[in-house]
Amino acid sequence: MAKILQPNEENLRELRKFLLFGGLVGVPTETVYGLAANALDPEACAKIFEVKQRPTNDPLICHVSGIDALDDICEVNPLARRLAKRFWPGPLTYVLPKKAKVPDIVTAGLGSVAVRCSAHPDFHRLVEQCDFPIAAPSANPFAYISPTTAQHVEASLGSRISFILDGGPCAFGVESTIVDLRDESLPRVLRYGALPVEDIEIELGRSIDKPEPSDDADESVQHLAPGALPKHYSPRTPLELRGGLSPQDLDALADDQAALLISKPSQAVGANVFWLSESGKLSDIAAHLYAKLRELDELGFRQIVAEEAPELGLGLAINDRLRRASFR
Ligand code: AMP
Ligand code: MG
Repeated sequence: MAKILQPNEENLRELRKFLLFGGLVGVPTETVYGLAANALDPEACAKIFEVKQRPTNDPLICHVSGIDALDDICEVNPLARRLAKRFWPGPLTYVLPKKAKVPDIVTAGLGSVAVRCSAHPDFHRLVEQCDFPIAAPSANPFAYISPTTAQHVEASLGSRISFILDGGPCAFGVESTIVDLRDESLPRVLRYGALPVEDIEIELGRSIDKPEPSDDADESVQHLAPGALPKHYSPRTPLELRGGLSPQDLDALADDQAALLISKPSQAVGANVFWLSESGKLSDIAAHLYAKLRELDELGFRQIVAEEAPELGLGLAINDRLRRASFR
């Protein structure tokens, strides 16, 4: 069992030391919980891959305390500075050319590094105290559902790590949006995530290159951002994704099938019908997505039948995760 620590000053100081000397820590972010290590310590980073059973061709995101800390690990351009000024700290990750001090294991041998500045107050304080960048992918076994509470991290990795920093449930509940900013004239979305791409487009005053929502065949993206693998974020229970679920669809369910709706139905429904939000707000749906999938995965249904969210804003990230969860 890992020790779950409250985010007080003493614990943050201890965790900084533990990270500095090569330890792994479960950490809260505003998107999902991460599994953190000193990004400049290749052996510590190798442990992340071991614990997650993550293939080493899937690079890690590095967390920094702000724009000023970026120059240390990557080549920063004006576009990155501009977006950081607007959206950091926040759920936006950039891919930029890396500097030599970033170990190959972090970037899976790529010449680029993914960087982010988290808005989670407790994790942000920890990163500020560390005088080294923190590598932290999601704190789940590879390809399983990402964790959004300290208890989720304990449930799947508790036997393999010593400490988890408890920062409460994650506010966003889906991973960060990743944009490739290596070529300033051609910014490109690599992964839909918690920051709606429309917000970036509004800031820039133009549309940017992005994968088709259902385009898993985009191998150039898969190669550059392995988080784009078709099967990811998956419960063990097979999940079928449908455009929508009508009252008739719900009536037709067998007892060993669970339905997962986007919002609370207005009619009375059976005990095998679940929903992601009371309000129908996309931010609520995203915040509950992974916890609900984990909960359903424990109930022993033969199949989960889920419906898609509206295909805009955060809905693009929600549907992206549901699609990958349904991939067999
Ligand atoms: P995770 O932190 O588990 O949500 O996943 C991190 C994801 O970030 C990876 O799976 C990649 O998709 C992406 N990523 C990390 N580093 C790079 C990089 N150097 N170039 C492109 N994508 C990256
Ligand atoms: Mg992940």
